[in-house]
Amino acid sequence: MSDESGRWIPAYLGLGSNLENPVAQVRQALNELDSLADTRLVAVSPLYSNPPMGPQDQPDYVNAVAGVLTRKSPEGLLAQMQILEQRLGRVRSAGDRWGPRIIDLDLLVYGNVQLSIPGLNVPHPGISERNFVLFPLRDIAPTLSVPGQGIVCDLALRSEEAGLRQI
Ligand code: ADP
Ligand code: MG
Repeated sequence: MSDESGRWIPAYLGLGSNLENPVAQVRQALNELDSLADTRLVAVSPLYSNPPMGPQDQPDYVNAVAGVLTRKSPEGLLAQMQILEQRLGRVRSAGDRWGPRIIDLDLLVYGNVQLSIPGLNVPHPGISERNFVLFPLRDIAPTLSVPGQGIVCDLALRSEEAGLRQI
């Protein structure tokens, strides 16, 4: 994809898995993020385990947040992430929104961009409500401003730790 602008933009990605050795899945996804064209992995949070959102009859999740520098556009980066999800074995099926998954990669923040187009909302609208995003994001970027939502450490203060546990 030749959408790079030449400028390296800081972006934050959320990773989650609750199938087939989730710790290994998240680690492998982190490794592969570093090999994406025009994207470099620069920070990795600790891994967290967390009870599932939505249906409870599925294994706990393992979550982490990665900081990257990218020359891709937001759309180009998400496309790379979705190709990676598929390569790592994610099968999407209708109605699996809250269901178990081998790997889920979400684009949380892309520079100071606010963008809402079909298939892509940036910043990810769920950040402020998700402790499994906010806590690992605070580990690597406590002073980050999430455009339209607030500063990460302030948002995390308002979030319950609940069942979230650093691995
Ligand atoms: P979720 O991550 O919400 O559990 P999925 O991974 O199945 O669900 O993604 C559902 C859709 O969300 C994808 O088709 C994708 O296009 C869209 N989407 C919108 N904004 C984002 C974002 N910031 N990061 C990742 N996916 C996004
Ligand atoms: Mg997703």
